[in-house]
Amino acid sequence: MLFINYNLYVIIMTDNISEKEKFRLRKLVKELEAIRGRHTELVTVCIPAGYSFNEIVSQLRSEQSTAENIKSKSVRKNVVAAIDKIIRNLQLYKRPPKNGLAVYCGNVSEHDGDDDIQFWAIEPPEELNTKLYWCSQRFDLTPLLEMIEEKEIYAIICLDRQDADVALVIGKKIKSLVHMESIVPGKTRAGGQSSARFSRIREGLMHDWFKEIAEVSNRLLGEHKEIIGILISGTGPTKEYFLREELLHANIKQKILGVVDTSYTGEYGLDETLVRAQDLIKESSIAKEKNLIKDFLTELQKPEGLAVYGLAETISAIKLGAVSKIIVTEGMKQKNIQYQCGCREGELQINPEAMPKVCKDCNQSIKIIKQDDIADYLEELANNYGTSFIMVSSDTREGQQFLQLSGIGGFLRFRV
Ligand SMILES: [Zn+2]
Repeated sequence: MLFINYNLYVIIMTDNISEKEKFRLRKLVKELEAIRGRHTELVTVCIPAGYSFNEIVSQLRSEQSTAENIKSKSVRKNVVAAIDKIIRNLQLYKRPPKNGLAVYCGNVSEHDGDDDIQFWAIEPPEELNTKLYWCSQRFDLTPLLEMIEEKEIYAIICLDRQDADVALVIGKKIKSLVHMESIVPGKTRAGGQSSARFSRIREGLMHDWFKEIAEVSNRLLGEHKEIIGILISGTGPTKEYFLREELLHANIKQKILGVVDTSYTGEYGLDETLVRAQDLIKESSIAKEKNLIKDFLTELQKPEGLAVYGLAETISAIKLGAVSKIIVTEGMKQKNIQYQCGCREGELQINPEAMPKVCKDCNQSIKIIKQDDIADYLEELANNYGTSFIMVSSDTREGQQFLQLSGIGGFLRFRV
């Protein structure tokens, strides 16, 4: 949700915001990140979840009196005014928002001598943990960027004879879903039991334990369709026995990236799995990229293939609503350029070096107003037309092949 009220922006993100809202927030954060103050006069205040605003306000008052000592008269005036605006806005809150608040305020006017003090407050989708007062030429958006960047989600099943953990890996964070403990005894039997009977009982208990782990994993991981890979880990050979029993559902099994040996289970085991699985994760994302490009090239070679390539061709197909998925190579040289000449204002997607200097129609020089990264432009365009957007690298052989085809292409919903 986005409320714009004069030059006061308050953005509230709930936990289950839509892709479109997420995209808008990402865009806003990028815009704020790009703002440069003319001087050290942009103020960032991060208020962690559970912090009292009264305390923050009194700290801001003390920052404000420190700011009174700033030598430059205009910087002093702007910083003091920004802090003042923050305090006044914080006092409007009846209670601190659930996840804390990120506040940005400062003079964003591009002309010396003018002031245009803007205020943004963002209630983040996850708990803010950083407490921050920062006055600089730019806003500090790191805590928000970490929250909203597209994160790949993996899962870990870490087990041995005694305990098992099922967890999600979201970005760099491990989120435990369940911890289980078994009643399977060790190999040494108690005196008086026959060895054959003991090992039969033990095998039965072990099988029940595996069934329990599999049932819980099938249920919990089945609920998370967004998981792109699963790691099986743990101490000793138990995890291999577990896999041999084939108790996981097919849709879970096909996401398994590999098996990782750890020295621990439990919380330490999960951490260890993630550290040791970096190569597996990297290989899997490279493999995914390679397969995607292979699928694209196959489609392109078919006589009636549903694929398009080239920047201009892909953009016009997206605008027809014909593209389901667009692939863009990292580091493309083209930009989205907004320009103005004597006869019009327009937009061109072109390598800036190839941009004409003079307009053929009015003979006047072409003035460039704004240049945006082509990937940002395409991502926004894709978002507006319900097209998914995927970035690939040119490091693989397939990536190189794709780059030779302009480095930009799309899968079509219908032929255009
Ligand atoms: Zn012109």
